[in-house]
Amino acid sequence: MTVSDLDREICAGPWVGPGDEPGAIAPPVFQTSLFAKPTFAEFARQQAAEHENFVYSRGTNPTVAFLERQLASLERGEAAKCFGSGMGAIGAVLGGLLRAGDHVLFVNNVYGPTLELARHLERFGVEHTVLTDPGADVEEHLRENTALVYVESPGTMLMRLVDLRALTAVTRRRGVLTAIDNTWSTPLFQKPLELGVDLVIHSLTKYVGGHSDVTGGAVIGSAELVREIFYRGHQLFGSVMSAMEASLVLRGLRTLPVRMEQHQENALRVIDHLLAHPAVAAVHHPYAAPGPDDDLVRAQLTGFSGLLSLELRDGSFEAVSGFVDALRVFRIGVSWGGYESLVSSPVRAGNAARLAADGIPPGLVRLSVGLEGARTQVDDLDRALAVTD
Ligand SMILES: *Cc1c(COP(=O)(O)O)cnc(C)c1O
Repeated sequence: MTVSDLDREICAGPWVGPGDEPGAIAPPVFQTSLFAKPTFAEFARQQAAEHENFVYSRGTNPTVAFLERQLASLERGEAAKCFGSGMGAIGAVLGGLLRAGDHVLFVNNVYGPTLELARHLERFGVEHTVLTDPGADVEEHLRENTALVYVESPGTMLMRLVDLRALTAVTRRRGVLTAIDNTWSTPLFQKPLELGVDLVIHSLTKYVGGHSDVTGGAVIGSAELVREIFYRGHQLFGSVMSAMEASLVLRGLRTLPVRMEQHQENALRVIDHLLAHPAVAAVHHPYAAPGPDDDLVRAQLTGFSGLLSLELRDGSFEAVSGFVDALRVFRIGVSWGGYESLVSSPVRAGNAARLAADGIPPGLVRLSVGLEGARTQVDDLDRALAVTD
């Protein structure tokens, strides 16, 4: 599976914005907190529409705005807003759009801190339900006061897919907004807005940044929704992406197509190898999806990223920590989507029952397959798997 020519062209697109006259090929970093105006009347006019004028860098900034246009184009959305982190974007969507008395329905395995935020919002009178089964009947769980269906597909940890067309057919009929965390697929491998989703959220910290040197987030959707999120979720909560951070994310975007193709190639070779390994009980990744998910993979994804989970046959804490500690190429750490291979696991001494209650199988280890050679990665995994035998 591959990246479309249109997306390649967008990622390679030249800087367009103020100061482009000298032909700067890299986006200028507008390292300024404010923008002075020639007259008081002009100042007043621009301040009345801060979402489309450069007034103050907590609102908009030319370097950040260029990144926003690039992301909106890649997701085929009208508008985008960037944030200081993925959680900043998620907080702005929930905090900016919801009010006391609203209900949110979460579908599939959702990023842990997102659910923690949902629990925090109970203090402000926002209720929620979590449906971890990606095939659950969403309509059955919609309430009178459901304002938002929030989905992750592929989902966190088990990477299962939700039928997005079927889901949005229901939410559109019922007049409920939908948002998706599209971080796993990047804007290249899944276009949720084309499948009827209203808002796409990204953690730019992962593949889009791609170099493990910046945090960022984005929300993409209709101009109207993004504008509402700008005035409430962004301006009032203040999770701002700086111009310097935007220039780092833009540098990541330039090579996103080639990096994603290499992550994909490496990940598929790693998965093929793991599936055949006697110490591995299962691999969780859309490429290794069980039968029914197969049709969804074809209908929704145009490529695979390099984040996967494997289940060790010996799911004990000792086996997991022995395996993780034996890895050399895969470094131990949080996050994913950078050039480097990473390993992490939710398994801790004595938490098997709690993980089971959350639907997480024993011995689950998450790998972010980086850009080292697949042979090197497979050898590293083989050596570490031998330790668990
Ligand atoms: C990392 C991550 C986030 C949060 O992004 P940050 O940039 O770390 O705040 C949200 N969703 C998913 C799926 C993630 O992996």
